[in-house]
Amino acid sequence: MVSRNDASSSGAADRVPGGRAAIDKRVAMDMMSVLATDADGNPWRDRAACQAASAELFFPIGRTGDAVEHIEAAKAVCRTCPVREACLRFAIETNQEAGVWGGTSEEERDRIRRAWLARRRRTRISA
Ligand code: SF4
Repeated sequence: MVSRNDASSSGAADRVPGGRAAIDKRVAMDMMSVLATDADGNPWRDRAACQAASAELFFPIGRTGDAVEHIEAAKAVCRTCPVREACLRFAIETNQEAGVWGGTSEEERDRIRRAWLARRRRTRISA
């Protein structure tokens, strides 16, 4: 996965304009920092194709303009990633709302997560 260090070393975090989007991005970067230093499992992260990618691609600000190009560029990296399925599963199960994970945008992942939650509810009800 893209790490906070990637963003920091490129100065990406410093270039984020103010406002809600900037706060969301900082929260996402903090989250990614924690994930990148987690040593108790999830070895798929070590094989992530986005390890050397710009965090700006995977956590674009907004959903229009340059953000659209960044999202598509991030998805292109994901299409080459050997751990895409594990990444998407992790993002759905842990409700990662921000950024591109497993080749999906925030909106796409929201739809997938709602369907996944509905299936889980049905499974619990029928059990
Ligand atoms: S699927 Fe995409 S976001 Fe997930 S680890 Fe691979 S390149 Fe990174």
